[in-house]
Amino acid sequence: AAGREGYIRRTKTVCTYCGVGCSFEVWTKDRHILKVEPTHGPANGVSTCIKGKFGWDYVNSPERLTTPLIREEWGFREASWDEALNLIARRFREIRAESGPDALAFIASSKTTNEEAFLMQKLARAVVGTNNMDNCSRYCQSPATLGLWRTVGYGGDSGSISDIEQAGLVIGIGTNTAESHPVLATRVKRSHKLRGQRLIMVDLREHELARRADLFVQPRPGTDFVWLNAVSRYILEQGLEKKDFLARWVNDLDGFRASLEGYTLAHAEAVTGIAQDTLRQIAREIVQADGTCILWAMGVTQQMGGSETSSAISNLLLLTGNYMRPGAGAYPLRGHNNVQGASDMGAMPNYVTGYQKVDDPGVRARYAAEWGVDLPASRGLDNHEMVHAIHAGELRAMYLKGEEMSLVDSNSNYVDAALEKLDFFVVQDVFFSHTASFADVVLPASPSLEKDGTFTNTERRIQRLYRALEPRGGSRPDWEIIQLVANRLGAGWTYTHPSQIMAEIARLTPLYAGVTYERLEGFRSLQWPVHPDGTDTPLLFKDGFPFPDGKARLYPAQFVPPVEPPTEEYDLHFNNGRMLEHFHEGNMTFKTGGIAQKVPGTFVEVSPELAGERGLQTGSVVRLVSRHGAVRVPVLVTERVSGHQLYMPMNTQDAAQAVNRLTGSHADLSTHTPAYKDTAVRLEVLSVD
Ligand code: SF4
Repeated sequence: AAGREGYIRRTKTVCTYCGVGCSFEVWTKDRHILKVEPTHGPANGVSTCIKGKFGWDYVNSPERLTTPLIREEWGFREASWDEALNLIARRFREIRAESGPDALAFIASSKTTNEEAFLMQKLARAVVGTNNMDNCSRYCQSPATLGLWRTVGYGGDSGSISDIEQAGLVIGIGTNTAESHPVLATRVKRSHKLRGQRLIMVDLREHELARRADLFVQPRPGTDFVWLNAVSRYILEQGLEKKDFLARWVNDLDGFRASLEGYTLAHAEAVTGIAQDTLRQIAREIVQADGTCILWAMGVTQQMGGSETSSAISNLLLLTGNYMRPGAGAYPLRGHNNVQGASDMGAMPNYVTGYQKVDDPGVRARYAAEWGVDLPASRGLDNHEMVHAIHAGELRAMYLKGEEMSLVDSNSNYVDAALEKLDFFVVQDVFFSHTASFADVVLPASPSLEKDGTFTNTERRIQRLYRALEPRGGSRPDWEIIQLVANRLGAGWTYTHPSQIMAEIARLTPLYAGVTYERLEGFRSLQWPVHPDGTDTPLLFKDGFPFPDGKARLYPAQFVPPVEPPTEEYDLHFNNGRMLEHFHEGNMTFKTGGIAQKVPGTFVEVSPELAGERGLQTGSVVRLVSRHGAVRVPVLVTERVSGHQLYMPMNTQDAAQAVNRLTGSHADLSTHTPAYKDTAVRLEVLSVD
């Protein structure tokens, strides 16, 4: 899509921020980014949000890493690629010889391409010999994936984003969709306004979609599971379940019915604070709607029982026949642009590509034939376990690309202490992140505009991005860097373009079997599973569910109550998440002038009620103290939060202000996703001006 050299180039790319996967043409002249023009995006049409439209200046930031860095006693010094790669290869070899391959661990990035995530796990498994491999879905979406998998066999969105518009009813649970997935929220807003689509939002905080909703419900923190089960039980009691759908497509109704014992409306009201009449209304709306889609995000998954609640959502959809057609189904909203893809690519401790188990004999045989080595057999460590293993002295080296682990993992003080203890730490990133300050070697990577590859968005849509700019300075695309590291360790890889990596992925991965770069040319895209003939699957469940008998399973999930409810000492519930303008720790958006000027720093949202109690106003400065750490932060008084609940955006460039200085290490019991939303703090007033 390039014009003549020296003139304006128009290059198709895919947004590097959230999981909606907006695609557009970026207009460039030399290194200047002139404009971003959405024209044909299959996920977004002609829409973008502020980040996709204006969030690109960071690629020309003078703060970009442009050469490798090596730590010395006194700090970091610039080094040649040769020197950095030799040091990495020597230390990885030494540590593997001394302590075995499982003394090393690898973390892929959900911001880099599918091909790059694939190579990272290939490096870990085929070259080093360990399954200690993970990606940041561990911090967000793993519970949704598992919760769905148990019930319907795939962990992805049931249909396309455009299908949501066809629903008679949309329910959002623990999702601030208008700020976290803005373009997807635009479609919901449009259907709600123009088509009469009903909208129920369930959340702690009265954000934009909550204000627009026909019904806004505020349960007590961490209790979604209880109201979901109560609604399911009520539907069964009233005989309102979809009997023909259950008989034809669903197993285990009796076990599920038994698991609902005790989940009466009265019990749910006592636990969640939601009135019984409201629960009856939710049940009625679901059974009367012409199709219900349930959207959920971190408010559900970042809890001790995130997987259980995700299964409870899927159970309710099955009970009411809300799968196997457009305008119905489960929509866990993926956070990063390629968090879906990083997991699809096997950057996980127990799965290789396409969620194939590492201990499955057939999978192992296929990989051995392709790679010429056996996969390591036993499950590796996930992110959460890696931190504990470093503290225990069992994990000595780590290679991490494109992750601000120090600030994004929960309990940052504990994570930082672990990173300090590593014998050897390699960080690969576009900027010198806070995490990089703990590294022994820092490698300069190129961002998405400087490389070719593919991303997979929240609706399982695989899309190509094309190189719009040459890599800045001595930076390189991640796939090239990983290949350099692998070859210093003796791998002998010869990839010259990401399309060759995708061909290998397709050979190894039934979900991606028919994916080729030719089939993804320009604005074309494919939604997995993609069959060998190139046929894709926009609607995930058409002819049943991917179990041997084609039937889904109702799963008897268990309630896991919060472990940090407010106490006398820590009397406030501490909620946290995104804001529209910035993305996560802000390593890109805070280096993008217009956005950084608009929202220059973080704050804590305080309700008018709490502000009155403590004598606070907007601009007051407070110290928040949890069992795990403390932050000093200015106050924003707003009606978005209520009572004794606080909300703080996760976006800050000041490591001392990161929300995860306050969160603890407790995690979802099944997937180890941190329970970020299960945190209690106390508030100390520092100044009230
Ligand atoms: Fe990018 Fe998401 Fe905004 Fe689309 S909605 S432009 S993918 S941040």
